[in-house]
Amino acid sequence: MDAIDISGWDVDKHLKRDLLTLTRFIEVYCVHWHKADPRSQASLKQIDVTALMGRPVVLCERCLKLLAHAMYKRSHCPMSPKPACKKCPRHCYHPLYRKQIREVMKYSGRKLVLSGRLDYLWHLIG
Ligand SMILES: [Zn+2]
Repeated sequence: MDAIDISGWDVDKHLKRDLLTLTRFIEVYCVHWHKADPRSQASLKQIDVTALMGRPVVLCERCLKLLAHAMYKRSHCPMSPKPACKKCPRHCYHPLYRKQIREVMKYSGRKLVLSGRLDYLWHLIG
């Protein structure tokens, strides 16, 4: 897995926005559903999550794995320009993670819309 240099964020604003969105969505989901599970500050080899969000992010182990998978897939998308995942002919997510991320998007998307904080686009996952 290649490391991603987040000091050069200006290079790809779309990538940064998508990674922020993914992290935020998974965080909202985890806070609600996995409150009782052991959770700890998220740290990934390939991306400094704390630096990305500007604060520590606490996730359970399952959600951390999902985040790692989602970030890796998003950062290494071979399609250029990147299409909406929904419209993409390649379904690059592992089926297990695909199922999980859809649940996350559904729950957190709804929650963020209801709270009026959704300025995200729906192009990440289909
Ligand atoms: Zn979780």
